[in-house]
Order: sequence, then C-alpha cells, then structure tokens
Amino acid sequence: MNTYDAVVIGGGPAGLTAALYLVRSGVRVALVEKLSPGGQVLMTEEIENYPGFPKAVKGYELVDKFVEHLAAYELPRHSDEVRSITRRDDGYDIVVGEETLFAKAVVLCTGARYKRVGTPGEDLYTGRGVSYCALCDGNFFRGKTVAVIGGGNSALEESLYLARLVDKLHLIHRRDEFRGCKCYQDKCETNPKISIIRSTVVDEIKGDPFKGVTSVALTNVKTGAKSELPVDGVFVFVGFEPVAGFVPADLERDKAGFVITDCEMRTNLPGIFAAGDVRSKNCRQVATAVGDGATAATAAYAYLEHLNA
Ligand SMILES: Cc1cc2nc3c(=O)[nH]c(=O)nc-3n(C[C@H](O)[C@H](O)[C@H](O)COP(=O)(O)OP(=O)(O)OC[C@H]3O[C@@H](n4cnc5c(N)ncnc54)[C@H](O)[C@@H]3O)c2cc1C
Repeated sequence: MNTYDAVVIGGGPAGLTAALYLVRSGVRVALVEKLSPGGQVLMTEEIENYPGFPKAVKGYELVDKFVEHLAAYELPRHSDEVRSITRRDDGYDIVVGEETLFAKAVVLCTGARYKRVGTPGEDLYTGRGVSYCALCDGNFFRGKTVAVIGGGNSALEESLYLARLVDKLHLIHRRDEFRGCKCYQDKCETNPKISIIRSTVVDEIKGDPFKGVTSVALTNVKTGAKSELPVDGVFVFVGFEPVAGFVPADLERDKAGFVITDCEMRTNLPGIFAAGDVRSKNCRQVATAVGDGATAATAAYAYLEHLNA
C-alpha cells in the first residue's frame, strides 16, 4: 500500500494549489485526479477575472501554468477516481481505482458541477453558447439576447446580473410560481430587459456548428403550445451540486451536500480538510479555490506537525 502524510484529491485550482503548498513544505504528499488536471477551468473559454492576466487567459493556458509550476517538484500522482475514504485510528484509507492509499491527512478538492437540465443540444453547445456561470461568461453576451432556464434564487439573481449586460433576456421557468425570493422576483418582473416565460419547458437548444446557439424550442406545459425563440446564448441555473459522493458518511455537509469547513478549511473529521467549490461557501471562483487550497494545505501541515510532536 502507498503511504503518505497527505493526499490531495482533485486536480483543479484548489487541489493543484494545495499540492504545491504541501510538496514545498516537505511533507510526503500525493495528488489524485481522475481526469487531466485543471478541473472546471478546462471548460472555460477565457478567464478575465484571475489576477495577473489583464488581457484574459484561456482556461487551458491557465491550467498549463499551474501544472508547469508543480512540475518543478517531485509529486507522486495517481490518475484514477477516488471511490471511498475510510477512517482508521491513525488516518484514512483511500480507495483509488483498484488500489488503496493511506494518508494521515486528506485534502478534498473535488469541486462541484452545475446540474444539467437534460435538454437535447445542451451538451453539444456547452461552451459554445450554453453556460452555467453568468459571472464568468455574461460578458461574452453584451448587447445580445439570451435565455435563462430556472426558477430558484440562482436563476433570478443571475438574470438580474445578466440583464445589466445583455440587450434582452428571456427567463424561462417550467412552473407558474418562482421558488426564489420575492424581492428578486419583483426586480425581475419590473426589469424592462427581462421577459418572463412561465409554465414552459425547453425541448431543445438549437444551434449551428459554427455560430453556436441560435434558438430554443419551447413547449407551454399548460396549453401544449410550441414555439421557437431566437437567442444567442442559454444560461442554465437549475442547481449546483458538490462532487462528494465518496466521502465518509459522518463528514458534515450543508443541506445541498457541500462540505462544511471552518475558516482554516478544517472539516468536522480530524485530518480531513476541504477546499474550493466542494465546500460550503458563497463565491465559487478560481481565485477563491486557489486561496482555499493554500489555506487547507497550511492547516493540513499544522495538523501533521501536531501529530508528530
Ligand atoms: C463554464 C465555467 C466557466 C467558469 N468561468 C470562470 C471564470 O471566468 N472565472 C473564475 O474565477 N471562475 C470561473 N469558473 C469557476 C471555476 O472554474 C471554479 O470555481 C474552480 O475551477 C473550482 O476549482 P476546484 O479546484 O474547487 O474544483 P474543480 O475545478 O471542479 O476541480 C475538481 C477536480 O477534482 C476532480 N475529481 C472530482 N472527483 C474526483 C474523484 N472522485 N477522484 C479523483 N478526482 C476527482 C475533477 O476531475 C476535477 O479535475 C467557471 C466555471 C465553469 C463551469
């Protein structure tokens, strides 16, 4: 069995940063990533709000920089999926694919994913007109027409944000009533750029292989009436979920399943830390994931020092 002081799970911005800090502090650390390193940043065309890149940076270019930085250090990597973490008296057994690793400390950096709405065309046009992040991609739709799918607080809040940028926004909700807060509903209803389409589902996101999204096909669930709406982009806000199906059952999580930490990224389980989008917090961005990763690594180092004292 491979034995480490610490294992970082997830090679997105949080995990790459945590691994960098831990390897530089001299502990025996390994990184486990099931895909290529980079996480959600690889799904991002351009990042305009990461400090140090005033002219924006392509997602894959930023990941290359992170990976290049880590390449200067000897860091064991395991390229498979973590399936379970089991507590032992002296640490944790981590099942990765077919093998089991042991670590005294674990840093969970497995991120989160936007829930898909499951409409035909959604996967095909993700990154080419379909987006799950208004803050990240809204600017690409300045002066254009977009559809927002959803009826909760995120859909309403993000619509209000997007309405500042776009020319026209159609907020499409499958029910009559919104689930989100009344104050956001009122603001959406009175915003001249927002048209609300209730009791309607999106049957298909249509597009062109070169232009990206061009329209959405709709059905009114009350009348059965079908229509097609020309749009340049579609924002889907039907929920966000952590990637944490494999964590110990007694790891404390919030109602939506995100891992609860203190400000040092410590969880309720000794030796388990969480950083980045997987943890319960408000702002999920590259900059905050990097900050969390550094904080979690520092706390994990202090924990290991304490064990060795
Ligand atoms: C389309 C889009 C655009 C965005 N644009 C911006 C932007 O412009 N600016 C900005 O700051 N932020 C942006 N974000 C948000 C930003 O990408 C995330 O906040 C950030 O990537 C979170 O980093 P993370 O390391 O916590 O998680 P992630 O990036 O999600 O990385 C998690 C990693 O863990 C791995 N993993 C998961 N489960 C396992 C497992 N069981 N075993 C092994 N590995 C596992 C995954 O493969 C993944 O590589 C965008 C997000 C999206 C989706």
